[in-house]
Amino acid sequence: MVKILTYFIAIFFLFGCKNEEKSSSEVITTSEISIKKKENFGIVIHGGAGTILKKSMSDSLETAYKAKLKEAISIGYEILKNGGTSLEAVTHTINVMEDSPLFNSGKGAVFTHEGRNELDASIMDGKTLKAGAVAGVRHIKNPINLARDVMQNSEHVMLFGAGAEEFAKGLGYKMMDTSYFYTQNRYESLQRVLEKEKAQNEKKVSFEDPYIKNSKFGTVGCAALDKNGNLAAGTSTGGMTNKRWNRIGDSPIIGAGTYANNATCAVSSTGWGEYFIRSVVAYDISALMEYKGMTLQEAASEVIQKKVPALGGDGGIVAIDKDGNVAMEFNTAGMYRATMNSEGELVIKIYKEE
Ligand code: ASP
Repeated sequence: MVKILTYFIAIFFLFGCKNEEKSSSEVITTSEISIKKKENFGIVIHGGAGTILKKSMSDSLETAYKAKLKEAISIGYEILKNGGTSLEAVTHTINVMEDSPLFNSGKGAVFTHEGRNELDASIMDGKTLKAGAVAGVRHIKNPINLARDVMQNSEHVMLFGAGAEEFAKGLGYKMMDTSYFYTQNRYESLQRVLEKEKAQNEKKVSFEDPYIKNSKFGTVGCAALDKNGNLAAGTSTGGMTNKRWNRIGDSPIIGAGTYANNATCAVSSTGWGEYFIRSVVAYDISALMEYKGMTLQEAASEVIQKKVPALGGDGGIVAIDKDGNVAMEFNTAGMYRATMNSEGELVIKIYKEE
């Protein structure tokens, strides 16, 4: 009897342990899956949208753009790969493009009507829905950093002009001489636009002549998803050539130029700012996902291919959703753009047909 009892007890323990083993291995499997899920990071960038045509681009310039896009996105990719936050990736990636004269942001910013450079930038954290923006700054080398400081080190969302620079001084920012932002080709662009504007005024041609439209591309932006499932987006620009009266475009406007929400996606816009503000482009893409259940690609096409052009605007967006899906949507001839997924696969493109 004792023998039989011992036998049953032994059987019971054996099964018990097996079950425990099974369930603990399930736990391991589950956590492996969730770790894998979290590994699903990604990054996407733009360097502006507009009339970017292969026939008007030299091979060397095309190579230079692609190399800079690659350098910028690789910095963000490495940050994400090493477990850094999407906010860090967005900031450092944008810094590379801000420091390059190829893009209309930081060094390389376009000129205002008066021959100045006035810089705008914004950033948003999809986890907390916190955001920061600066507009019309004239002495800040990397406006995206200041936007991030507004978000993280002030109780405000947006600071403008001299006040924004006072805030920056308090944080120890170096004030750049305005000559730092001077680039010959941007200055020449302003002169060309001024000449055309003069001719236009004489002929009384409408303000919506395409030359005005096409004198603004080169803004930079980035959207990223990190290993913890946090989304962030940022945008930095010099605005539009020949802008005046302290004109501010969409780039520093949260919801228009930049938006991020962990529940949906992170978006950075580029294009004719007035239309992007009126269409609330970045937020509209997120809202279409949230309230209509659209995919990121569906929402991006709806806004960029239908809503913005219906008003007469042009431009594009880059975006990434909470699952790492990417959209690079534009209704212009081209958009400097690149993306990298967690596998390290890199795509860099400029023109529509590529
Ligand atoms: N959206 C920017 C602005 O209107 C310009 C651009 O993206 O090229 O200021």
